[in-house]
Amino acid sequence: MDPTAEPSQQDSPPSGLPLIERTDLLLDAKVYMDFMMKHCCYDAVPTSSKLVIFDTTLEIKKAFFALVANGVRAAPLWDSKQQCFVGMLTITDFINILHRYYKCPLVQIYEIEEHKIETWRDIYLQGSFKPLVSISPNASLFDAVYSLIKNKIHRLPVMDPVSGNVLHILTHKRLLKFLHIFGAMLPRPHFLQKTVHQLGIGTFRDVALIQENSSVYTALEIFVDRRVSALPVVNEAGKVVGLYSRFDVIHLAAQKTYNNLELSVKEALKQRTLCLEGVLKCYSHETLEVVINRIAKEQVHRLVLVDEDHHPKGIVSLSDILQALVLSPAGIDSQAS
Ligand code: ADP
Ligand code: ADP
Ligand code: AMP
Repeated sequence: MDPTAEPSQQDSPPSGLPLIERTDLLLDAKVYMDFMMKHCCYDAVPTSSKLVIFDTTLEIKKAFFALVANGVRAAPLWDSKQQCFVGMLTITDFINILHRYYKCPLVQIYEIEEHKIETWRDIYLQGSFKPLVSISPNASLFDAVYSLIKNKIHRLPVMDPVSGNVLHILTHKRLLKFLHIFGAMLPRPHFLQKTVHQLGIGTFRDVALIQENSSVYTALEIFVDRRVSALPVVNEAGKVVGLYSRFDVIHLAAQKTYNNLELSVKEALKQRTLCLEGVLKCYSHETLEVVINRIAKEQVHRLVLVDEDHHPKGIVSLSDILQALVLSPAGIDSQAS
């Protein structure tokens, strides 16, 4: 697809805005698209950061403990037989493993104790070839956003094409931060003053939720079935009282409590050591600018859209914002990407 093409006229209009007005907004947003096309991934790589790499012969249990011990969320996987990187290990993999092998409370999950990363990958991939998705430091930040969203992943290793070394792992957070800091010097597009709801930025239907008294295992089932990155937690009155994200599942490894997934989400949230107080929300009357500033300041992956009674109405995720600011102006709609 030619990313410089004019916005597609076939895109469905977002709620509340006629197509012609939306087209103007997309043209308005081209300033961000151009900015991300002009900068390369190397520009967004920090001068120093921690990178943990796992050999695929490492035991699963040690790998997840090592993620926790090093305070990182994911690691590239090195296959010493093939002498190349073959994939990533992320918290989603931990969730998939727990979901597949958990039996009942306090019965040790043998597979976590015994399996190596390569054993798990053989079982999980069932011989299908899923290559590592990576990006060159010389590729544009536009391409990085496109790759993250198109491949529905949250970790994009920046790989030096000559040495084959991983330099950094780009995430939506890092890309939005870059755009937020340096984009502040660009002319301010008018659409920042529209509300996310007017612009249709986010998911407003069929939001995956979890009841606070439901078990952690139920949350894992939803993560696996719906492939969402977080669940707003609601009480019996249907009000949002918390947020349980895929990241929070790693606390089960940190506290070595993954052999009991019957505990409630409410309990699991209480047991987190380092976490944000409450839920970071937004309201349908708030502008896109307010929402972007909040999400960037709080360094979270999403805000929960609620009504005045704190009932959940949607999710505004970094994927939605980057799609709207960077990809939609290039005529790449969310279904296509
Ligand atoms: P998380 O949000 O838990 O960090 P992701 O959404 O990035 O996880 O990962 C979803 C799945 O895709 C996982 O099985 C993970 O191993 C895989 N994955 C993540 N990043 C990459 C990548 N760059 N290349 C190939 N597979 C990846
Ligand atoms: P990641 O950096 O892996 O994308 P997340 O942003 O999903 O991680 O989560 C990091 C931490 O921030 C988790 O403890 C999660 O519960 C918390 N968190 C994320 N989004 C929100 C939110 N909207 N409100 C409250 N806490 C949140
Ligand atoms: P993410 O995985 O957060 O990067 O988001 C990918 C897409 O899933 C975005 O369009 C989000 O709005 C949407 N999404 C994230 N969390 C949920 C949820 N709990 N329910 C429904 N959609 C969600």
